[in-house]
Amino acid sequence: MALQSIAEQVAAMIRKYGAQPYLTEDVGQPFHLHFHGSGGTEVKAMGGNSPPHWRLIVDGHGPDRFGQCEAHHCDAVYIDLTRNGSRRYCSAACTARAKTAAYRSRRRS
Ligand SMILES: [Zn+2]
Repeated sequence: MALQSIAEQVAAMIRKYGAQPYLTEDVGQPFHLHFHGSGGTEVKAMGGNSPPHWRLIVDGHGPDRFGQCEAHHCDAVYIDLTRNGSRRYCSAACTARAKTAAYRSRRRS
């Protein structure tokens, strides 16, 4: 997906859920930025929280850090925060299943 399209979709979600930034100081941590939505439902709270973080990821890492798991029978999505952008699976379980399947496939041929 093109950066412009991702940026527009994330910006639209930020507007839709009324994401508001605020500074907080959790125990043992310095002040840092959190976000919350404008509504009283869980969906609106999540809508106000997640898209601003996605925007920071796009700004810091680029739009290609969002992906869909390549494991067979898995359609989960992930955010790739690896140093070299090499993530292909949503979880350690899918990584292990895919590696096992590839190993078995090589042994059969
Ligand atoms: Zn998966």
